[in-house]
Amino acid sequence: MAARRPSRRRIRRLTSEEVDAYHLISADLSQRVWVVRIPDLPGPYAGLALGRFVFLAREVPPSGSSLLLAHELVHVRQWAELGIAGFLFRYLRDFSRGLKQHRNWQKAYRQIDAEEEARRLVDQWAEDRSSRPAASGGAGPGPGLPPDAPRSIENDPPT
Ligand SMILES: [Zn+2]
Repeated sequence: MAARRPSRRRIRRLTSEEVDAYHLISADLSQRVWVVRIPDLPGPYAGLALGRFVFLAREVPPSGSSLLLAHELVHVRQWAELGIAGFLFRYLRDFSRGLKQHRNWQKAYRQIDAEEEARRLVDQWAEDRSSRPAASGGAGPGPGLPPDAPRSIENDPPT
């Protein structure tokens, strides 16, 4: 009776290491998050948060070093704070404003408040992590992260 390896599981909770590492959201909330691996996420998405569900195109290291997962967890917090209707309303309002202004999906996407907040907090988080002496010697997020496309926030080393 072999135990299933966590990395094979399609849906999981955050590890305790991840709960500690991703202090962008409260431990209470992060313990209630589900991480779901969906290899065929639509469009350009590497990750997507819906309520307390984070969908990832591929599994991330369970060590709490993923910029992608950190980013999606900020969205989980935003969903929790604003509620489903509140989050969607603001998100779509910002997006349509951006589209009207720029006539460009990429620019409109970047201008969404929720996305700006997520990028700002994760940048800060990554900076804090890299300025701290590495406890595990693990590969932290690299400095050369291209900040624009949704997919580009995916910066985890392949495992
Ligand atoms: Zn986002």
